[in-house]
Amino acid sequence: MRIVDLSRELYHRSPSYPGQPPIIHGVWQTHEEGFVSAGSVWGCTVNYFSMPDHGGTHIDAPRHFHETGVPIDKYPLEKCIVRGICLDLRHIAPRAEITPADLQAAVAKTGLSIPKNGTVLLCTGHHARTFPKAAYATDNPGVNVAATEWLAQQGIVHFGIDSMRPGPEGRENLLVHKVCHELDITHMESLCNLEELIGQGEFQFIGLPLKWREGSGSPIRAVAVFEN
Ligand SMILES: [Zn+2]
Repeated sequence: MRIVDLSRELYHRSPSYPGQPPIIHGVWQTHEEGFVSAGSVWGCTVNYFSMPDHGGTHIDAPRHFHETGVPIDKYPLEKCIVRGICLDLRHIAPRAEITPADLQAAVAKTGLSIPKNGTVLLCTGHHARTFPKAAYATDNPGVNVAATEWLAQQGIVHFGIDSMRPGPEGRENLLVHKVCHELDITHMESLCNLEELIGQGEFQFIGLPLKWREGSGSPIRAVAVFEN
């Protein structure tokens, strides 16, 4: 078995979505403090973190899109372990829209078909190009509404992308979220290392969320598993 880690490293003040709370990660108790408070038997360390439920590599719960959508603690775990393929979209310019024709051409290039009830990961090269510079938060290409509809028509449960938002920044990105709600799919944001999946065939995707009560999303440890 070979595992490709598709998750961003979380660390103090790592980039979070513009306008959302920062990712805070600190030491709550050092080994030395633990040693003293535990009666000088043995000292353990404890860290703490604070972050938005859309921090780092994460999945959007349907609740994020609309008040009627299921929150992350009710999101079916069957949709979190699914077959997947990755599309090479690195030729799409920053801030440009990815269209249905772009997706169709990229699928044809893989020689694969989109797995039913599976996922499609979109490698735009945005993470590799910009992380962790300011442009990471703004300059991504992304699917337009028609491309999102096309993906939903292929019978996927979600798609993922290597940027903070599925569409290009602005109105189109918001409408992509609206259409995800209407067509009952969702997406994962801030994936990375998707380049390692290109040309590698189908894989098992695993991205389990935390069981946050009424959460609008959750960080996931996203991985691609290759059996051979
Ligand atoms: Zn989103």
